[in-house]
Amino acid sequence: MTRPYNFSAGPAMLPEAVMQTIQSELLDWHNGMSVMEMSHRSDAFIAIAENSEKTLRELMAIPDNYAVLFMQGGATGQFASVPMNLLRGKNKADYVVTGIWSKKAAAEAKQYCEAKVVADGSEGGFTKIPEFSSWNLNNDAAYLHYVPNETVNGLEFSWTPEVNVPLVADMSSCILSQEYDVSKFGLIYAGAQKNLGPSGLAVVIVRKDLLGGALKDTPSILNYKNFADSGSVYNTPPTFSWYVCNLVFEWVKAQGGVAKVAEINKQKSELLYNAIDGSNFYSSPVNKADRSRMNIPFLLADDSLDKKFLEQAAQRNLQQLGGHRSVGGMRASIYNAMPLEGVQALVSFMQDFAKENG
Ligand SMILES: *Cc1c(COP(=O)(O)O)cnc(C)c1O
Repeated sequence: MTRPYNFSAGPAMLPEAVMQTIQSELLDWHNGMSVMEMSHRSDAFIAIAENSEKTLRELMAIPDNYAVLFMQGGATGQFASVPMNLLRGKNKADYVVTGIWSKKAAAEAKQYCEAKVVADGSEGGFTKIPEFSSWNLNNDAAYLHYVPNETVNGLEFSWTPEVNVPLVADMSSCILSQEYDVSKFGLIYAGAQKNLGPSGLAVVIVRKDLLGGALKDTPSILNYKNFADSGSVYNTPPTFSWYVCNLVFEWVKAQGGVAKVAEINKQKSELLYNAIDGSNFYSSPVNKADRSRMNIPFLLADDSLDKKFLEQAAQRNLQQLGGHRSVGGMRASIYNAMPLEGVQALVSFMQDFAKENG
């Protein structure tokens, strides 16, 4: 069986080596049981959970004054958890809207506070990140929320905003793809299914002094403090997803860590952008300085060829290249687990297709 190169935005490809480990351990995780069958309070599972936190701390150089939480509800759950936990008596939070996900995060926060959109990139269809000097920041905001990499629109910050309030980042589609200085953030969260593992988990990295001030009505399952106090085993966690994340963390470490993986990500994205920019047949809608290394949307000069492009790509084992339903065109998501060979195969197909149809 040949595994396809899967360019899905999420759930996305997992490293083949990780899949093989899962296969070999599926019936017997060193103790006669499958991880799926183990008590979440067993020594065996707790060891997996502890190792995952330890490895993630190492990979991201997470300082000791930050808690690492493994929660449920995906990144969307965090759209509510963040205001519920971080308002801490305030009634205002700042949101930077640079694409579909940050827009959704701001809309959810409006249920709990005055969520102010301090910068809005929707004009022009989310193809450019508004300049920092134009942001209408509020010094009395409880935090500022932004999305460093907009998965659907293909925009990525190449810089970290410097603000006077805790900085909150939805890193669902860029965590572990390059080095970030965690100490610049009050809170980082990420749904697992892009760069970390299977869906079902959200990782939250939060500065400990921000804990303990949740809104009175916060459901206990959304309260960070409960997860920090219980090693994220507050109730039954998605044990299998957590186990797979642990294997992915070990895999990133075996690749040489985040810096090494970042180098390969740069190489992969440059290869694809060069192919797009170097042709009259393909184009990128995104401002050059704001282009994502993870999610690369592109358009065919003649969109009546879209269907044919997708069909022929699939015949060459290049899957899931259709753009998001709200945007159209094509999108190649090339997270850590996408090998360089996958991008090379895509570029080679794109060149052939352009020759035959241009
Ligand atoms: C995928 C994604 C989400 C939504 O994740 P769910 O786990 O489906 O809730 C939110 N934000 C970003 C940046 C994403 O890429």
